[in-house]
Amino acid sequence: MTETDIEKLTEEALKAREKAYAPYSRFLVGAAVLTESGMIFTGCNVENAAFGCSLCAERNAVGSAVTAGQRCFLALAVAGGKDQYATPCGMCRQVLAEFHIPQVLCVKQKGDYKILKTEDLLPCAFSGSQIRNGVIYE
Ligand code: ZN
Repeated sequence: MTETDIEKLTEEALKAREKAYAPYSRFLVGAAVLTESGMIFTGCNVENAAFGCSLCAERNAVGSAVTAGQRCFLALAVAGGKDQYATPCGMCRQVLAEFHIPQVLCVKQKGDYKILKTEDLLPCAFSGSQIRNGVIYE
């Protein structure tokens, strides 16, 4: 991933944050995921009065990419609070693991981000491929 990729990915996450629908938490989140083919898909958090129906920005972005037929990713950027680095929730970490998205860029503002490895965010992630005939493989 080049510096240009990083700049574009983080900027798209920041733009997506502006579209967030978060009337309950007022915590706006945007995400952007970069595919191996160089495409970027974005998502924002979409809350609901029935909280369980809410959707995180990260899963929204990955869902958009998958809907477009993309399943191979290089990185995902997430832009949450402007004063803190937001990290993906547990459910989103599982989705990152499912699609083997190797790194997450946590963005505060333009040019202000940190890179985390997905394997550090969710060590020993569950994978259906680890289970065959009821036996768990390493
Ligand atoms: Zn989440």
